[in-house]
Formats: sequence, structure tokens, C-alpha cells
Amino acid sequence: MTAEIIDGKGFADGLTARVATQVAALKARDGITPGLAVVLVGADPASQVYVRIKSKQATGAGMVTHDHKLPATASKADVLTLVDRLNRDEKVDGILVQFPLPAQIDMREVIERIDPGKDVDGFHPMNAGLLRTGGTGLVPCTPLGCLMLLRHFHKDLAGAEAVVLGRSTIVGRPMAALLLGADCTVTIAHSKTRDLPAVIRRADIVVAAVGRPEMVRGAWIKPGATVIDVGINRVPATEPGKTKLVGDVCFAEAVETAGRITPVPGGVGPMTVACLLQNTLSAACRRRGLTVPGAS
Ligand code: NDP
Repeated sequence: MTAEIIDGKGFADGLTARVATQVAALKARDGITPGLAVVLVGADPASQVYVRIKSKQATGAGMVTHDHKLPATASKADVLTLVDRLNRDEKVDGILVQFPLPAQIDMREVIERIDPGKDVDGFHPMNAGLLRTGGTGLVPCTPLGCLMLLRHFHKDLAGAEAVVLGRSTIVGRPMAALLLGADCTVTIAHSKTRDLPAVIRRADIVVAAVGRPEMVRGAWIKPGATVIDVGINRVPATEPGKTKLVGDVCFAEAVETAGRITPVPGGVGPMTVACLLQNTLSAACRRRGLTVPGAS
């Protein structure tokens, strides 16, 4: 048996196109252009690539982006002052601070300073709390994208056994909350979990967000399960001096057992960016008490 490959890139392109249509309708109906502020501190090469992609996609969807670059030597006060300014700026609907931050800046303090209504990453404790208590806040982009893929490709989530591997506040925990909200029976596995292969073998749905290249083996996957691989790991390629991206799941093995699986790259990654655009549009509307035009 060979799994269906979930086309995250194609699905994300569709979502981005729908957001662009809604942005155009918001402009026409209410004269509002959603604004996304992207803050980069330092010059981490991967972060530079990520912020470039996010800004480009937001602009492509008809939004206005406000790029702010601070040096790696920036102080905590510099970053918090910028966040305060963006919180007050009426043209800014979404604030994205790219992580990781330099060691001298406390990520938690920065997250907590962002206006929850502009927190398009969904990391603020108020949004995290709303997600856990069944409210409607802004939801972290990566798990939101995973849930959209699962709703579309796995379809019937109610009662499904879901195992989320990883318990970070960015991916694992919000993912588990979303799956619970979708009526799955949810297990969160982590570094202290006993007999991980047996836990994962129970799952109809596996979401792997562990940050360890190809850790989840094909033999751990229940035949026919849906596998969502969040991992992005850069490893040496077979050609000398070259690298390649792999997920947290051994794709070559899992594809033989799973019912459907996301590839890396081209699976979850593009959904994260598309969901950022969706969150920025939602934030622009909610802040003004408007509905998203054309949203079903
Ligand atoms: P973190 O490092 O914050 O969390 C990793 C989690 O995995 C922790 O809960 C940890 O457990 C658990 N873990 C680590 N080692 C093991 C092990 N041997 N067995 C079981 N559990 C283990 O990672 P993130 O959640 O931030 O990211 C996870 C992956 O997702 C990374 O590859 C990252 O690059 C990728 N990512 C991809 C995104 C995308 O857009 N596609 C967006 C965000 C992340 P414990 O808590 O016990 O330490």
C-alpha cells in the first residue's frame, strides 16, 4: 500500500487565493487594507528567509506589510518599544515577531507585550487560553494549518485517535487543543513518554512536531493512518557539501504504511504562511467588529 501524498502546497495556494479575494472585498466594502508588521531581530539566515516569504505572500494577497529590522545587539527595551508602537499603530492589524530572538531578549516577555487582537501568531497567553477554553481567539498558524489539512484529507475527525508528538507551546499543545475541539481522542507524547512506538501505533492521526530528523519510523504507523509531519530538519544530502530538508517522520518508510501523509517540504510549511495571512485578515476584521467578507 502506498499513501496518498497530501498536497499542502496546493491546498495553501488555494487558501491564499481565497484570502486575497476576501482582502479585495474588504477594501471594496469597508475601505480597509489589512496591515502586517514583521519584526526581525538579528540576521539569522533561516529567519531572514522566513520573514521574506511571509512579507512577500502578504503583499501578494493585497495586504500592506511593515518590515522592521533590528540589529542582533538590540536590547529588550528596543524590541518592547517597537511592539508598543506597533500596538498603537492603526495601520497595523497583525504583529509577527520572528523567533528565535537573540539571547538577551526574553521571548515570553515580547509575546505578552503584543496586543492579543494583533497577535497573528496566536502565542499570547490570552489567545492560548481562549483556544484551551473553547473561545475564539487567534490560533497559532502551524497547528491551524494542520487542522485544515486534517479536516479536508482525513475528513471524519470525531472519535478518531490522535497522537500529537511534541508539547511545545507553538505547535504540540495548541495542536492537541484543536484536535480535542474537533472531537478527537487526543494523546500528547513527549520526551518522557514510555514506549513511543506503541503509543503512535494506536493513532488514526499522527501529528509529529518533535524536531528530530526522521525519528518516527514506518513500523510505528498504524496501517491507513493519516500522518502530518510538522518537522523541518536540515540534514546532509548524499552529494558532498549539500544539505536537504527532512521531516520528523521517515517518509520513505511511512509512505508504505500510512493512508495519507504530508511531504517535507511541500506539506505543512506552506500552510503555516497561508494561515498567517488568514489570521491577519481575521485580526483586521475583528478589531473593527466586522465580519470577514465572503467567509462561510
Ligand atoms: P520544540 O523543540 O519546542 O519541541 C519539541 C518537542 O518534542 C518537545 O515537546 C519534546 O519533549 C519532544 N521531544 C524531543 N525529543 C523527543 C524524543 N526523543 N521523544 C519524544 N519526544 C521528544 O519544537 P517545536 O514544536 O518548535 O518544533 C517541532 C518541529 O516542527 C521542528 O522540526 C520545527 O522546525 C518544526 N516546525 C515547523 C513549522 C512549519 O511551519 N512546518 C513551524 C514550527 C515548527 P519535551 O517537552 O519532553 O522536551
